Amino acid sequence: MTQDELEKWIRQLIKEDKLYKFYKCSEWRQLSEAVMKENNYECQYCKKRGFHTKARSVHHVQWVRKHPRLALSRTYEYRGATCSNLIPLCEDCHNKEHGKGKGMKKGNENRFMNEERW
Ligand SMILES: [Zn+2]
Ligand SMILES: [Zn+2]
Repeated sequence: MTQDELEKWIRQLIKEDKLYKFYKCSEWRQLSEAVMKENNYECQYCKKRGFHTKARSVHHVQWVRKHPRLALSRTYEYRGATCSNLIPLCEDCHNKEHGKGKGMKKGNENRFMNEERW
């Protein structure tokens, strides 16, 4: 799949409210599993703070919804630097990254969780 095709596919999924399909696809599963393994299945944010917590899911620094082209990209470019796009996180850190609980309505929250399937 080219980046153009990927972007088109994800935009379509978002439109149909079926982004979960992306998280089920074999490309993502293989990629996220590889990223998890490379990081010893540890939450990288907890690790920075000196804790060892088991990661539960791989977070997209550049959110899939905003940057569909980067959905299967390990890195992204920012001001000439190459940054990690995929980071294993525990549930708590992942929730924080997505601002869960920060003024989000209950209904939205559940919907969001189901869609991202973390
Ligand atoms: Zn964590
Ligand atoms: Zn995430």
